[in-house]
Amino acid sequence: MQQLLWINGKHKNTQTLKALKSPYNQEVIAEIAQASSNEVEEAIESANEAAKKMREMPAYQRAEILESVVEQLKAQRQNCAEIIAKEAAKPIKAALAEVERTIMTYRFAAQEARNIQGETIPMDAAPGGEGRVAYTVREPLGVIAAITPFNFPMNLVAHKVGPAIAAGNAVVLKPASQTPLSAYKIAEMFQEAGLPAGALNVVTGSGSIIGDVFTSDERIAMITFTGSPAVGKSIKENAGLKRVTLELGSNSAVVVDEHTNIERIVPRIVAGAYNFQGQVCISVQRVFVHQNVFASFVKAFVAETKKLHLGNPLDDRTDVSALISEDDTVRASAWIDEAIRNGAELAYGGREEEGVLQPTILLNTRLDDKVSCEEAFAPVVHINEFASFDTALDWVNQSKYGLQAGVFTNDLQRAFQAAKKLHVGGVMINDFPTFRVDHMPYGGVKESGTGREGIKYAVEEMTEMKLVSFRLA
Ligand code: NAD
Repeated sequence: MQQLLWINGKHKNTQTLKALKSPYNQEVIAEIAQASSNEVEEAIESANEAAKKMREMPAYQRAEILESVVEQLKAQRQNCAEIIAKEAAKPIKAALAEVERTIMTYRFAAQEARNIQGETIPMDAAPGGEGRVAYTVREPLGVIAAITPFNFPMNLVAHKVGPAIAAGNAVVLKPASQTPLSAYKIAEMFQEAGLPAGALNVVTGSGSIIGDVFTSDERIAMITFTGSPAVGKSIKENAGLKRVTLELGSNSAVVVDEHTNIERIVPRIVAGAYNFQGQVCISVQRVFVHQNVFASFVKAFVAETKKLHLGNPLDDRTDVSALISEDDTVRASAWIDEAIRNGAELAYGGREEEGVLQPTILLNTRLDDKVSCEEAFAPVVHINEFASFDTALDWVNQSKYGLQAGVFTNDLQRAFQAAKKLHVGGVMINDFPTFRVDHMPYGGVKESGTGREGIKYAVEEMTEMKLVSFRLA
């Protein structure tokens, strides 16, 4: 199968196509079009034209288009999940869960389209402001360039395309090279839903070629990027005055205080650690456990981890499959070895089983080991013991990242202390850091990024506030 570009409501062939291979068994899944700079510019021009139509389209029509996508996704759940499972090696159970979330994300976008509001401004609150009636409106920005990662190929596209269309913008989407098919599938659904040609274009190919056109082209008003900190930083450096939101990486931590119900919380933390092989931006990577419950926690954690089934992503039983690339398996294995050389104890895993890296548990790593201070993006966690709750909070903060953190405690004072002290975008009390529902504000501090997603908050980022003031008589 050949997957061509999607520009101005039509497929477009390119000079080069590249084989897309399954990360699990290396089978060729499709041939993917590789856009040149000229083709990216063509996509931007078609978005620029369509942006004029989108700006005039009434809110209820934008909402109906998004609702139609919701209905199509509901009707094609299984098919969509299989696309994700094949191209990303995401276990089918998790791929189906992603499709359910994608449905919710577009549903929230449809609701938000009907609900974009401004406010009235009491101009007479300052001397000289008397005799005026003023209000704000939120207007679309125009053309938004969206760049998405491989790990949630449908839902993270939805987090950009959903609010952009809800707000009346046009989009040029560059999905991750490993997961283009999910994005093209969504473009097909928007076409079916009646979105004007050019209001959503999909271009695939080299990140740097497409990224360079996005950052330099004046027709693009905003770049919304989700991916690694290195790429995010380079986009921000090159984007000039364009609006930029960056949803970047993390090495999320969870703190487990004494007097917590270990049996109840361990399955949740294990799921947060190993779901999609740990390739989730808010995967549990660092676990800090009070010394009084450390031994029982580790015992339960190892027992729960042993239950995970490794294998083919299309097998219903599979919990953990191959990482997105062999390079990532080699890198993660080297980081595990480094931690062990530096004195950590390997409590479970650490080896590759038929191309799948085992879920791995390291005990008492050093805080400067790569598995601790870098983003692992692999099925690797470390569990370290603490004596003082306050020290554990310091350890959480001792990271260059700050996306979300989880804290399990029965002590109300400590819960508030954690909520106040943790320097992250979201604090989950009595939950894992991996918790997300798609309407909540979501984003990071430090190297985890700038700006917020979650439909309402993304709509704010994707619109410009305009003040209108009427001087009366
Ligand atoms: P990546 O940075 O390698 O790629 C992300 C996207 O950027 C892809 O579409 C890629 O082709 C493109 N790209 C690559 N080079 C580019 C360039 N020079 N200019 C413009 N675009 C370029 O990231 P990935 O491996 O796909 O995803 C994993 C990363 O994403 C992790 O760090 C993870 O934490 C992060 N992530 C963050 C969130 C969040 O919401 N904070 C969510 C999911 C993933």
